[in-house]
Amino acid sequence: MQPVIIIGAGLAGWTTAREFRKLDISTPVLLITADNGDFYAKPSLSNAFAQGRTPAQLVSTPAAKMAQTHNVTLLAHTQVQAIDPARCVVTTSGGDFAYRDLVLATGAQAIRVPIAGNAANSVLSVNSLQDFAVFHARVASRDGPQNHRKHIVVMGAGLIGCEFANDLASAGYQVGVVDPAGRPLAALLPAQAGEALQGALADLGVTWYFGCTVRAVDRNPGEDGPALQVSLSNGSQTHADIVLSAIGLRADTALAQAAGLACNRGIVVDTALQTSAPHIYALGDGAQYASAGGRTLPFVMPIMSAARALAATLAGHPTELAFPLMPVTIKTPALPIVIAAPAPGLEGQWTRSEPGLWQFMGTQGLRHGFVLTGKHTTRRGEQARLMLA
Ligand SMILES: Cc1cc2nc3c(=O)[nH]c(=O)nc-3n(C[C@H](O)[C@H](O)[C@H](O)COP(=O)(O)OP(=O)(O)OC[C@H]3O[C@@H](n4cnc5c(N)ncnc54)[C@H](O)[C@@H]3O)c2cc1C
Repeated sequence: MQPVIIIGAGLAGWTTAREFRKLDISTPVLLITADNGDFYAKPSLSNAFAQGRTPAQLVSTPAAKMAQTHNVTLLAHTQVQAIDPARCVVTTSGGDFAYRDLVLATGAQAIRVPIAGNAANSVLSVNSLQDFAVFHARVASRDGPQNHRKHIVVMGAGLIGCEFANDLASAGYQVGVVDPAGRPLAALLPAQAGEALQGALADLGVTWYFGCTVRAVDRNPGEDGPALQVSLSNGSQTHADIVLSAIGLRADTALAQAAGLACNRGIVVDTALQTSAPHIYALGDGAQYASAGGRTLPFVMPIMSAARALAATLAGHPTELAFPLMPVTIKTPALPIVIAAPAPGLEGQWTRSEPGLWQFMGTQGLRHGFVLTGKHTTRRGEQARLMLA
């Protein structure tokens, strides 16, 4: 019997394996992944410093234990190099493998922009536990004068940039955040909520550099102070020991595109999560969902729904994916936020119904989204029910 092959050992890959095993205990499953296959909660990467957790402590279940529990053959440290949809074969750094069905759970890549300067290649980004281990080692290293509080410049005041800024500032580091917009989470939050977050993080010690971008990163020519000189597009400069780029993610479509699968913002899948080729499916940060109006949804909750639907289809019960309402919690304890964003391009406006609560009202007078801040975040259930009413 040919196996179901899953590419990727992130939340999407492992959750699909687990959900499939609940329905089918006999079909062989081969999980192929470029990393070591350990299971971890990626959201914990942006709140680990304040909790004093090391990269090793973030592994929830080691790869071998995952493989044993879910009766999966694991090929770790193995890159899938090509897919042949006509022959139903994948080519990997460890040989060729035939599949009955193939699941692409290959995730996304951190977006990088060109930066000038002789230390531009020292800029880090974090989208995996391995990335985090490198970042953590640099932050925790004892270089520089004694009692020197590391200064970290974060590029991007989006969701991940703000979470890292909160985490690092809470853990006692000096943090600066650079963003071309005029406030944090400008694309997601109503202005007042963004300003409230800006104030809460400033109270924690975060310095904001709005309306500009990082132009160059150079080694500091002086003997003293942080190792890097960061030049901003508005002509000003700041110093840093580490620069972290958190300007967004782009679905990793390279493998799918080379195999001739339809790709756009992500790997295009229909409501049953099938790609443009039969027997090949995709989910997770790499997928562009018909069930979400052609959007990518790089969050945990969509992966859980998608994995359950896909597992049923793979087990012989064709299942259409319907996403529930999926509010996102922003892990900024300085000002906790929950957001249920309206669909992109939807006409309407944010109105503040009461302090700490904003509702997105469409032109027909219907609620299409909400934002809750501070103690009001406990009201997500009530607001979700109102939206669905
Ligand atoms: C710092 C951070 C904080 C976050 N916080 C939240 C949060 O609070 N709430 C929330 O909902 N979401 C959050 N997210 C998003 C969420 O974590 C992701 O949506 C989710 O983890 C993506 O899982 P995935 O399996 O699709 O992709 P990934 O975890 O990226 O997994 C991709 C896998 O594919 C493998 N792979 C790729 N290409 C190949 C190849 N060619 N051959 C073999 N293997 C390959 C990789 O090795 C990896 O194992 C956060 C993300 C980050 C970065």
